[in-house]
Amino acid sequence: MQGKDAAEDVVIVGAGMAGLAAALGLHRKGVRSLVLESSPSLRTSGFAFTTWKNAFRALDALGVGDKIREQHLQAQRLRVISSATGEIVREADLTQQGKRGPHEIRCVRRNVLLQALEEELPKGTIRYSSKIVSIEEDGDIKILQLADGSVLRAKVLIGCDGINSVVAKWLGLAKPSYSGRAAARGFAHYPDGHGFEPEFLQFIGHGFRSGMLPCNETDIYWFFTWTRSEHDKGVDESAAKMKQFVLDKLRGSKVPEEALAVIDRSEMSDVLAAPLRFRPPLSLVTASISRGNVCVAGDALHPMTPDLGQGGCSALEDGVILARCLGEALAGKDAKGSGSAENGRIEAGLREYARIRRWRSVELVATAYTVGFIQQSDNAIVSFLRDKFLSGVLAGRLLKMADYDCGTLSN
Ligand SMILES: Cc1cc2nc3c(=O)[nH]c(=O)nc-3n(C[C@H](O)[C@H](O)[C@H](O)COP(=O)(O)OP(=O)(O)OC[C@H]3O[C@@H](n4cnc5c(N)ncnc54)[C@H](O)[C@@H]3O)c2cc1C
Repeated sequence: MQGKDAAEDVVIVGAGMAGLAAALGLHRKGVRSLVLESSPSLRTSGFAFTTWKNAFRALDALGVGDKIREQHLQAQRLRVISSATGEIVREADLTQQGKRGPHEIRCVRRNVLLQALEEELPKGTIRYSSKIVSIEEDGDIKILQLADGSVLRAKVLIGCDGINSVVAKWLGLAKPSYSGRAAARGFAHYPDGHGFEPEFLQFIGHGFRSGMLPCNETDIYWFFTWTRSEHDKGVDESAAKMKQFVLDKLRGSKVPEEALAVIDRSEMSDVLAAPLRFRPPLSLVTASISRGNVCVAGDALHPMTPDLGQGGCSALEDGVILARCLGEALAGKDAKGSGSAENGRIEAGLREYARIRRWRSVELVATAYTVGFIQQSDNAIVSFLRDKFLSGVLAGRLLKMADYDCGTLSN
């Protein structure tokens, strides 16, 4: 427990993508932060995630982009296949030119990404097994109560504590809504090489949405999302039952045998069935993304359904923008003296961060929900429109949402 006067400058809650990106961005700006993580080590459940060009811009700004590129294949093509007919309804070049340079998509292993960020931080930045349970105030200082009974004082509090964020609750953000859908994820390892092309395959319709993508020459990641119903009771009791459920669903449609074989041999995520939740996008239009010297980033701000593959990517954008806004506010504090002047700069920096992130968050959450609804639907009219007309629009949205530049740490 610290003495009353020993307040940490910047406390970040959560060592996921948002928290580590913000901490590393601040470190690059010469600002020390303390990251409190409830788990005893980095949480890497979910195996991998699609990492789009916007995320690589953020990783480049943080100085770790090439480290990630070296270990992951660049996807060349998107193929969207109707699981009702087996036909390819859309193909897209994933290296095509966007408004802000060529696209770049890789399926990045979560552990590789989180470790790459962690390794760049000064030793002792992350304090594991440190769960925040409540937040109180003492003037401008935030008093953080930890689950182990200890107390920390913080001049700036950044909530990167995921979908059940304690900090978002303190800020009064709307509760995440349940989409009625769930997701399963798996990872297949081929020690002698899988032989698949570096392509992003998506299977849509028939009441589910599934995809697979090689991470490198030996590993393939896949996901499966579906609308929960009475018939799938108990599937998340074990990995074996979940795998069988996914295989049965896919076997009842026109998904190719090679894709089924990947799922059959894979290891399942320790998150057996993730319920898919999102923050109602309209609530974000007026939400307090920051209040005084407190703000939220990543899933704590904009949890979304995974249909754009942008939750983690946008968490990295948040980290860079937050580090830029806050780093600039904290830079030169020695020169500018008084505590209240410093507080004013911090609050203005966080307001600027909130301003930049608000509409991006609204657009991402709303688009992800809509894409998921249309791609997964087995309604006859939606399926017809989707397979005939909308698939191109949806693929275009994926690329458009990735065509975003969070800037560098200094502009
Ligand atoms: C099925 C599925 C597929 C997905 N696919 C993709 C994809 O392809 N591409 C993509 O970009 N995104 C994807 N996402 C989304 C992505 O996983 C999340 O958006 C991303 O992990 C959010 O990062 P974060 O750092 O904000 O939160 P988290 O990763 O949730 O990290 C929060 C951290 O805070 C810690 N924490 C929580 N509460 C406390 C507390 N009280 N005190 C201290 N620590 C705390 C947690 O232990 C955790 O380490 C997917 C999500 C799902 C469910």
